[in-house]
Amino acid sequence: MTGILWYDTVVCILVFIFGAVIGSFLNVVIYRTPLKMSIISGPSHCFSCGEKIKPCDLVPIFSWIFLGGKCRNCKAPISARYTIVEALTGFSFLAAYLRFHASLPMVVAIVFFCLLIVLSCIDLDTLEIPYWCTISIAVLGIATFFTEPNMPWWEHFAGAAVIAVPFAVLALFGGMGGGDVQLMAACGFMLGWKIVPAAVIGVICGAIYGIFQTAITSKRDKSISASISVVFGDWLKTDGEKMVESSSDIVVGEIEKGVCKVNTEIFDEKAWINGKPSDEQINELNESISKLVGDVPKNKEFVFRITAENNTVKKVKFRQRIAFGPSLSVGLAISALHGEMIIKWYLDLMGIR
Ligand SMILES: [Zn+2]
Repeated sequence: MTGILWYDTVVCILVFIFGAVIGSFLNVVIYRTPLKMSIISGPSHCFSCGEKIKPCDLVPIFSWIFLGGKCRNCKAPISARYTIVEALTGFSFLAAYLRFHASLPMVVAIVFFCLLIVLSCIDLDTLEIPYWCTISIAVLGIATFFTEPNMPWWEHFAGAAVIAVPFAVLALFGGMGGGDVQLMAACGFMLGWKIVPAAVIGVICGAIYGIFQTAITSKRDKSISASISVVFGDWLKTDGEKMVESSSDIVVGEIEKGVCKVNTEIFDEKAWINGKPSDEQINELNESISKLVGDVPKNKEFVFRITAENNTVKKVKFRQRIAFGPSLSVGLAISALHGEMIIKWYLDLMGIR
């Protein structure tokens, strides 16, 4: 190996290690900010036994592997996610360094990747993209006015506008949430035209993730659907008043933190022959469905639709709500690194340039 190669390899390893160390700080942010805990004060401790974690057990990635993924004191399993976040941060720093070398665009890229990792994990945990992450990305967008002088100022605004409209439509039809739309608009402001390949890759990843998620939970979701069908059928019959003629979605509701909430605002009043059910009857239904879903994870959210006709249940569809933050982040990270190349490749392919 020549001296230059040695030097490059050592720098790459150092960049990765630096990323992994920052990654273990991101883990603290991911865990503490949704709980509104301070991210600076208080040492790390085991979630099972409360024992303070020794400094020698806080080495990113290695400590987890060395301890076999268990607490040294009580042997309770430690989630692999901490290590995955550390490794992912390490690799994203390395990717930013290899693409931009030591430069201001590299600094912008690593801050961007840190925000994407944090918002993805918080979205997985809480199904919400924290507002402070979106705002920070918009601020980062202002920084790119100086770090990327080749991009005309109007391209930032064009990027935000061009992505906000289709994503707002996606949110209207369900699936995407308002947080996803805000995130993509802020990223469009930062990335300019590079937001287009980011969105295409993100939506494809989201679709693949959705298919996998559905495959994993379909058995459980089908059995819960069947139980809701029985409970709803009984509820319809409890007093002869709740006559249902025919309608597509007679009842739509959601389950948050294990509690069922039927959406009474979108009730089709014409579907109920004797007028829509009373608040008391709705509460009764909410309680019975909440009891049914007692075993599902409390940190996940679920939606269900019930179709009924002539006072009998036709179909119940129950499914887990999906976090799109991680999938969108994959597209955003790829495009932040290689968006220009992807756009050029596509234009060449179409023979436009
Ligand atoms: Zn422990």
